[in-house]
Amino acid sequence: MTLHIPFQARYAALPDRFHARLAPTPVAKPGLVKVNHGLARELGLDPAMLETPDGLALLAGNTVPDSATPVAQAYAGHQFGGWNPALGDGRAILLGELTDQTGHLRDVQLKGSGPTPFSRMGDGRAGLGPVLREYILSEAMHALGVPTTRALAAVTTGEIVLRETPLPGAVLTRIAASHLRVGTFQYFAARGDTEALQTLVAFAIARHDPQAEGALGLLTGVIARQARLIARWMSLGFIHGVMNTDNMTISGETIDYGPCAFMEAYDPKTVYSSIDQFGRYAYANQPEIAVWNLAQLATSLLPVIDANRDRAVEVATEAVQGFADAYEAAWLQEFRAKLGLATADDTDGPLITGFLKLMAEAGVDFTLAFRALGEDLSVARELWPNPEVFDAWADQWSTRLAAENATPQSARTALKAANPAFIPRNHRVEEAIQHAMSGDYSVFERLVAVLETPFADQPQNEDLMAPAQPHEAVQATFCGT
Ligand code: AMP
Ligand code: MG
Repeated sequence: MTLHIPFQARYAALPDRFHARLAPTPVAKPGLVKVNHGLARELGLDPAMLETPDGLALLAGNTVPDSATPVAQAYAGHQFGGWNPALGDGRAILLGELTDQTGHLRDVQLKGSGPTPFSRMGDGRAGLGPVLREYILSEAMHALGVPTTRALAAVTTGEIVLRETPLPGAVLTRIAASHLRVGTFQYFAARGDTEALQTLVAFAIARHDPQAEGALGLLTGVIARQARLIARWMSLGFIHGVMNTDNMTISGETIDYGPCAFMEAYDPKTVYSSIDQFGRYAYANQPEIAVWNLAQLATSLLPVIDANRDRAVEVATEAVQGFADAYEAAWLQEFRAKLGLATADDTDGPLITGFLKLMAEAGVDFTLAFRALGEDLSVARELWPNPEVFDAWADQWSTRLAAENATPQSARTALKAANPAFIPRNHRVEEAIQHAMSGDYSVFERLVAVLETPFADQPQNEDLMAPAQPHEAVQATFCGT
């Protein structure tokens, strides 16, 4: 192997019970779909190198550089509220960590790279559709300013994976600040392995919270990051769809782009995931679910927060209760920016919820409604089936802006910087996947390129701004498994 990639083995150096050591399973015929040049450079990698046969062999898992120490990570988790003591990477292999151009450690993981001891009944593989979906969605989220795992590359395997129907197989190279999850802590807590918990806390602190003092400091850091993350999701109409505790990171990055989707017509009860029958992970439930998950993290950490159990429960509970205020503040900050407001006023909450209520009543597209505030108001009102109702709200909004010596016109630049024109709309993602499945990647390429600058006006790409027509609408999304 001629590739020289300076992988570190930080996670792999943890004791044996943290992982299983194994290499990816080689695939029949690797085919290059896409290398993310910008991200490769961020990681100190030469994108052209990744596109050579040697690079492709690495991205497909067919060869492992000498510097890598491949492992599958152990974790547990609550899935839809039900406890599963042993999940783990069933179809992913961590190759190691790289220090990026800003000096931060980043995990490099192959997803869809073959079975592991954690695969249970699964085949360890991924289909091309879900891999492209994750590529599009995670990169779009990054461009939208959301902390997220990233997609470094997508390759095809030349093999078929069997799902409801046979699909072309693919491997995604996922980059993360780390792949530590709430479920990683739960795994050791459930085994009563306090020593491992201590090791994990130290590892997570070094990685994500160097200032934190002990397990409580770590918990507080995770809560703060998740409060900001969920508020950001809400401000974009993002519905994760599978907020199981194994899909909630310690880093505060969005992870696991399975059934996620962006809301179109605003309705807080929106659910897309076909497996979320009871709407547990509906748009409006996300903050509450985050608290539920963080309470699981807090519970797992109790033995390492304080040897005195009552004392540990007291301080951990207080920390989890802190989510509500942190989230509320982050939510207000996000939505104030979406209304072009630079200062805070007590009336802002009602002004924001008033706008959302109008949207819900009229079934107006969430993204377009906010984006239009940065256009001429005569344009904005055309989105509304009942423009007088919008006019009445816009009067209140203008009055509030006037208190900042601003107007809807003067706030335009700020409004456009806070409200994206482009989101990965479900029907466009599906369209890109369908074309790719028949060998035409041009639709995928265009969508990825447009979503790199979601806040810019792109008059030539306005077709990608439009919500789905009724016959195009995607009613349900499916897990990537
Ligand atoms: P997810 O729904 O992606 O969060 O995955 C939940 C669990 O199922 C994790 O332990 C995954 O590693 C595992 N898993 C998902 N798909 C597969 C697959 N095709 N083969 C093996 N394990 C899988
Ligand atoms: Mg997962």
